[in-house]
Amino acid sequence: METFLTESVEEAAKFIKLGGVVAFPTETVYGLGANVFNEKAVAKIFKAKRRPADNPLIAHISDFNQIKLLAKKVTPIAEKIIQEFFPGPLTVVLPKAEKVPLIATAGLDTIGIRMPRHEIAKRFLQCCETPVVAPSANLSGRPSPTDWRAVYEDLSGRIDCILIGEVTEIGLESTVVDCTTETPVVLRPGAISLEDIRKIFPAACLFSPKSNEPVRSPGLKHKHYSPKAKVVLIKSLEEAESAENPKAFIGLSKPTGDFDLIKSCESVEEYAHEVFSFFRECDRRKIGKIYCEEVEEKGIGLALMDRLRRASAR
Ligand code: AMP
Ligand code: MG
Repeated sequence: METFLTESVEEAAKFIKLGGVVAFPTETVYGLGANVFNEKAVAKIFKAKRRPADNPLIAHISDFNQIKLLAKKVTPIAEKIIQEFFPGPLTVVLPKAEKVPLIATAGLDTIGIRMPRHEIAKRFLQCCETPVVAPSANLSGRPSPTDWRAVYEDLSGRIDCILIGEVTEIGLESTVVDCTTETPVVLRPGAISLEDIRKIFPAACLFSPKSNEPVRSPGLKHKHYSPKAKVVLIKSLEEAESAENPKAFIGLSKPTGDFDLIKSCESVEEYAHEVFSFFRECDRRKIGKIYCEEVEEKGIGLALMDRLRRASAR
């Protein structure tokens, strides 16, 4: 299959209407979309990404009216969260509508819904005239793509089209919030922080799996965000500087030692923005070990640490 590259939202949306799969930019990372109501098209996402069938997709909307096509009911918690954070980098999980095919939700009776605020994503979704399910546009397990070239690297020849946009603004995936519970539960931290949600729901909490509890966000159990290089989390620079090359460093400090690649970030936001493209650059340069400096787990730091831990787990 030849992958068509375009900057035209109309051209890209045509592929969705024909039952194809299209990668498109959003404010979080690039997504790989298909019409949620077309089972064959949704199946193409799983095939192209080699995504395990038990990992649910997030439905992307451009209009508040589309929520009722996807959710059986909007809980009072969801109503408040939607009012506050839509459009933006946050996904609400709600009971799914009958019509949503089970392949999209990986067999779950709930569905994740998000309304991106990214200009191109909004215009593309409008042209599609249907909600579009989209996981991140990478091969399963690889770092999420923050620019279209990363999508091309993983999925060229496997998908119908890439809608070309700029580098994504945030660089980490959306905050996922379960709104089917009595208080909101953050299943996956993101740029909209737990602190932000607690301003509205002080009792909101972060999901932590207990051994006797079923997995609530199945995707979280899979291998994630991993470059080919080994990711090592460090608390201080000395741990990395004494190690042998080839090695790379990313973090807030400014190393003086011998590294093959260094990314010193000015802020946690910049670190979050850069981390996935840094992982990919390390792979291109065949770097064996990437030392990632830990950050404080507040604000987007919680999401960044979540991704770094998953990337380091082998
Ligand atoms: P990705 O867009 O590749 O980050 O994948 C979407 C992620 O959103 C999944 O791996 C899940 O962790 C989460 N998700 C999507 N739908 C649901 C749902 N119905 N319930 C819980 N988590 C979900
Ligand atoms: Mg993903």
